[in-house]
Amino acid sequence: MLKTISLRTTSRNQLVDITSQVETIVHESEVQNGICILYVPHTTAAITINENADPDVKHDILNKLAELVPRLNDYAHTEGNSDAHIKSSLIGCAQTVLISKGHLVLGTWQGCMFAEFDGPRNRKVHVKIISD
Ligand code: ZN
Repeated sequence: MLKTISLRTTSRNQLVDITSQVETIVHESEVQNGICILYVPHTTAAITINENADPDVKHDILNKLAELVPRLNDYAHTEGNSDAHIKSSLIGCAQTVLISKGHLVLGTWQGCMFAEFDGPRNRKVHVKIISD
């Protein structure tokens, strides 16, 4: 089963917690045990799994990425968003989460985070559920 989450980001760089939307799709699939693949079909966004309790963690991740990959540099790509492309490749466009007893297997503090690096934009996350 393939479903798509649509979202609208509100900042150029932003981590958006989509865990509850993913859990809803898992629930609707009625799959009890299997895997859930999250795939972001964009070149300036990504998907990661990290802490969703303390918002300072999101802030620190985005700040460190901005430091590692400055917006202005000697980039060849003329669109002006090379930093976003590089961040997208660093974080990656897919994640796999296990499903057990009808729920995502996530640690206490883990959430599924859509990572925006060239917003605000309308974005999508494809969710593929595969049963055991
Ligand atoms: Zn570009």
